[in-house]
This record gives sequence, structure tokens and C-alpha cells, in this order.
Amino acid sequence: MPERGVGPRILVAPVRTMDPEQPDAEAVLVVGDRIGAVGQADEVRAAAPSGAVEEVLDGYLVPGLIDAHAHAQRAGLKALQLLDDDADAEAFSAAMLADADADPDAPDWLGQEPPTVKQRLAALRRVQPLLHAMGFTGVIDPAVTVPELEGYREARRLGALTLRIVAMPYPELGTPEVPDVDAVPALLAGIGGTTGTGDDQLRLGPIKVYYDGEGLKGQALLERPWRDDYHGVRRISPEEFARLAAACVAAGWGLGVHAVGGGAVAEVLDGFEAAAPPGGLEPLRCQLIHAYLEPSPESIARAARLGVIASLQPSIAWNNAAGLTARLGERAAEVNPVRAWLDAGAHLAFGSDAPYFPFDPRRLAPMAAIRRMRGLDAPVGPGQAITLLEALEGYTRGAAFASLAEDRRGMLREGYLADWVLLDVDPARCAPEAFAAARVLRTEVGGRTVFGA
Ligand SMILES: [Zn+2]
Repeated sequence: MPERGVGPRILVAPVRTMDPEQPDAEAVLVVGDRIGAVGQADEVRAAAPSGAVEEVLDGYLVPGLIDAHAHAQRAGLKALQLLDDDADAEAFSAAMLADADADPDAPDWLGQEPPTVKQRLAALRRVQPLLHAMGFTGVIDPAVTVPELEGYREARRLGALTLRIVAMPYPELGTPEVPDVDAVPALLAGIGGTTGTGDDQLRLGPIKVYYDGEGLKGQALLERPWRDDYHGVRRISPEEFARLAAACVAAGWGLGVHAVGGGAVAEVLDGFEAAAPPGGLEPLRCQLIHAYLEPSPESIARAARLGVIASLQPSIAWNNAAGLTARLGERAAEVNPVRAWLDAGAHLAFGSDAPYFPFDPRRLAPMAAIRRMRGLDAPVGPGQAITLLEALEGYTRGAAFASLAEDRRGMLREGYLADWVLLDVDPARCAPEAFAAARVLRTEVGGRTVFGA
């Protein structure tokens, strides 16, 4: 086997670049941590420096996958406690799902004391190879407390990160450190940096805020009532949210807001729009998180116009659809209307809410394409289905945009980071069911092999 990650390499395999300007290619040149060329094999050979080693790969190359909503460090802590030493990605997935099924509110850490930085490091060392084995090269961690950020920074400092991390700081409102929204700016000022600070290994994303409650608990804030005149739960008032959004945006912070129901989505967009700077919100990568229950067509169009990202998780819809159908009947058929978001031209980033929901992208992408949901026989709202390739766009280009890295990640294109996955199926041609059974053969991050089957 040729030595990897050292000299220039020409990788020959069918390539699904996810680059709209050149969707298909025959070869990729990797030089250092970057892609030197992508195209027909002869073109790539001609572009290669002398001494480049040619590797003919038995599989299909796609950009490395990015989970736009994965609590990776918490997944690591759970993995550390719940998995056998030799557990593989399959066992990891199964153990996390079983744990969430047993108790959705189970604590991440079972120790009496909070995890130490050393334990957090061990957690990251445990979880990264498992995520690479699923094809992940990066995640957005959507709620990073101060100790979690310390864990990531220490891992970064020790060179122990192999997964690219975008960390969304989480000021936990209502705690002694952050009694109310007016205490948030001081906490953020202590973090060192703002949205976008860092490098491609570890970067700060927008902050995380909760607007409403959980869908399955009937707490999502809906425009049409759940029943009688009950619309759901607000965890923050519109006035407070508007004040928080204005202060954050003025200080250079974007906001990713947990907004499950259409009422929450509309009110969050009010706050975003009022806080928008002259240059628009898009540079701050503000997110609507979840947004799966009755977002109105007006809100979807408005999010697209404002450049606000829809961070969607097919896994949550899959898990919750049966319970929501019991509460809402036919209304639940439109759960997670991904087609509507895409058709409106919104930025769409796909993720899972790992480890609390299924997170293997080979299962999630087909969920969005087939709309089969847990415990229900027929597909749910098949009109909201998207194609497998559109789902992968959410995991690559879409999630790269949410990661502030659309000019370096999410596509296989000259000059981009050499983050890629080798699959044994062709995602441009195979049926969603075949994709669910795909094997990940190799994963590289920055031209270095982090997983090989
Ligand atoms: Zn989450």
C-alpha cells in the first residue's frame, strides 16, 4: 500500500464532488492537506507534480460528511461509559439509541463529579474514530458549555483532534452564572473570540439559545394551537430574545436557536430581522435549529431571504412522527418539511442531534428520501421527500456553509481541504435502501487517513 498523507497522490475513482460546477470527476490530486486538482484522470495526472503516487480506489469518492448538529463530546462521554473497548460504529449507534429509548433524559455522565478535562479528552479520543467510521470528517457541536469548550481547546492544543469541530457556545440561562439574558454578553466576552474565531480544526460558531420546548412533549410553540388555546411553551420572551439577539449581533456573535414549532420559528425570525446589521445576517450563520413542526411557508421564505440556516435533523422526525401523529393527527404528516425549505432556496444543513437520536448518515439520508418513520407503516408526507443526493448536500455543502467553511469544505474542488470518504456505493445512482447498507471504506481528513476498513 502506498504511504498516505505524505507525498502528492492521485486518487483514481468515480468522484461525486458535490460541486455544482463539476458534479462528476474521475480523479482527485491530493497535495498536503489540500486538493490540488479534480477532473478527468488525464487532466489530474497532467496537473500532478512529478513523483505523485497513483492510487486506484475501489469505490466512490465523496466529500467528508459534516453533522451540523452533533453533541460530539457528550457522545464521547457516553461512549466512554457505555461501550466495550472493542465496540465498532455499529455497536456505538445501537448503544446510544438503546440508551435514549430507555430514558430520553438520561444524564450524559454518571459520575458524582462533573467530568474532568482528562476525561473529556478520553471521551474525544474514544468517539472520533467511531464518527470517522461513519464517514464524518467534522461536526458542529450545538451546545458547548464552558467546560466542554475547555475540553475541545485542550484536545486542539495536544493535537488530539482529528474531527473538525465548530463549537457553539451555550450560555445556560437561569443558572447562577447566567441568571438572565443581560448576563450573556459578559459570559461571551470571557470566551475569547466571536463567531468564526479559530481554525479549521476548532472554530467558534454562533451561540446556542432555546426558544421553545420539545415537540414530543407537546412543548413546541405552534401558530395553530395543539388543542383549545394551548400553543406550546416559550422558554424566553420575544422581548428578551430581541434584546439578546441585538446584543449578540452587535458583538459579532451569531445565534443558533432551538425553535421546534412554527410559532417559535416566526418569533425568532422577528428577533433576527430586527437585529440584522446593514450587511445582513448571513455572515454570522444564524440558525433555526430543528424547525420541524409546522414552520409556515411565509417563515420559510423569510428565512431564505434573511440568509438564516435551517439546521434540520431527519432523525428527530423519524423518532417523533408516531407520537406527534397521536397528538396532532394529519397535521403531523408535514413533519420536517425539507422539500419546502429546499424549494424556497433556504440554506439547509443536515444533522442528527447525536447521541440522543440516530446519527449514522447512512440511515438519516434515506429517512429524508423515503420519509419512513419509526412505528408507522406508510411513508409520512411523501411530498416532502428529497433525493439522496440532496440529503448528502445537506451533510456536505450545507453543513460546510453552517461551519463558516463553504470556501474550503463540503465539496471536492481544487484548493479545498482534502476531507473525503470512500463508499462502496454510488450515491448519485443507488437507491436510498442501498445507501442505508453502504460501507464506508476509508475516511481522510486533511489528506490523512483517520479510518480504513
Ligand atoms: Zn441538540
